[in-house]
Amino acid sequence: MTQIFNFSAGPAVLPKEVLQQAADEMLNWHGSGMSVMEMSHRGPEFISIYEEAVRDLRELLNVPANYKILFLQGGGLAQNAIIPLNMLGNTTQPATIDFVHTGSWSGKSIKEAARYARVNVAASNEAGAFTFVPPQESWKLTPGAAYLHICTNETIDGVEFNFVPEIAPETPIVADMSSHILSRQIDVSRYGVIFAGAQKNIGPAGVTLAIVREDLIGKALPICPSAFDWKLVADADSMYNTPPTYGIYIAGLVFAWLKRQGGVAAMEQRNIAKSELLYAALDADDFYQNRVAKDSRSRMNIPFYLRDESMNEKFLAGARARGLLQLKGHKSVGGMRASIYNAMPIEGVQSLVDYLNEFAGR
Ligand SMILES: *Cc1c(COP(=O)(O)O)cnc(C)c1O
Repeated sequence: MTQIFNFSAGPAVLPKEVLQQAADEMLNWHGSGMSVMEMSHRGPEFISIYEEAVRDLRELLNVPANYKILFLQGGGLAQNAIIPLNMLGNTTQPATIDFVHTGSWSGKSIKEAARYARVNVAASNEAGAFTFVPPQESWKLTPGAAYLHICTNETIDGVEFNFVPEIAPETPIVADMSSHILSRQIDVSRYGVIFAGAQKNIGPAGVTLAIVREDLIGKALPICPSAFDWKLVADADSMYNTPPTYGIYIAGLVFAWLKRQGGVAAMEQRNIAKSELLYAALDADDFYQNRVAKDSRSRMNIPFYLRDESMNEKFLAGARARGLLQLKGHKSVGGMRASIYNAMPIEGVQSLVDYLNEFAGR
């Protein structure tokens, strides 16, 4: 079989070593005679898996002691409702939530939040076709907003924040980091809530990670479903109801793999090198085009267009023949997209760059 490189935006590539370890342990985890899938979430085996995953993640992201790490379900999209349901209980009604609209995912968050509160779009780059993060000087924030929601990496538009907003300290920042968590160093203490669906940079679909500052817990609206109430979930160590056990196990294997790679700082250096390699090939001449402003370009999700879009199918077929898979862009924006998450080795990016050069006749 030719070597395959999977550029899917998500569910996405996982480290080969992790998949191999999961395969080796599939039928009999550590001599228990059980697959992790068959274990009680309350038994000592699974509890040890869970505790190690939480410990490793806390270490990788340097999560301060006053933040809870929660494993939830419902994906990133459910968070768009779970967050207002958890954060509006103590606010004077009607509450206002500030948003910065930088692309498709923050757009979905705005729509969903509008069911629970007034939303203020403090800044939007819709008119600029979502090609840069509006500079903070241009944001029109609401004094006393319940929180500010941003999507720090827009997976479809390929736009990534390169700064943390400086706002009134009493307003928590909620960040959707689904597609770049663990790809770069972050200062968790600058955020109130960080969330991420697992299927981009953590593990399989079905687990949603939430990192929540403790003082924000316990303020849910009475209509918040119990299974999504941070207080109930945190008090039960993410086992208020049955958690996505196998997904947590794989996420834990990914965290251990990240530690063996040298942690997030080392991954960030690799991600810089990988993304620079790919952008250089796209920028070499006008055969390909990435339309995002240089200082807002994502290191993880790199959309691009062929100058001559009638060659799209030929481009994709040639890529597939070389084992370069899932390069087709999101249907809402067309073109191509290469997602180069932590688990994408530089060899995969080099292979794509070689193909880009060959296809362009360079
Ligand atoms: C994928 C993604 C989501 C949605 O995740 P689901 O698990 O499909 O709900 C939300 N936000 C961002 C930034 C994403 O990349």
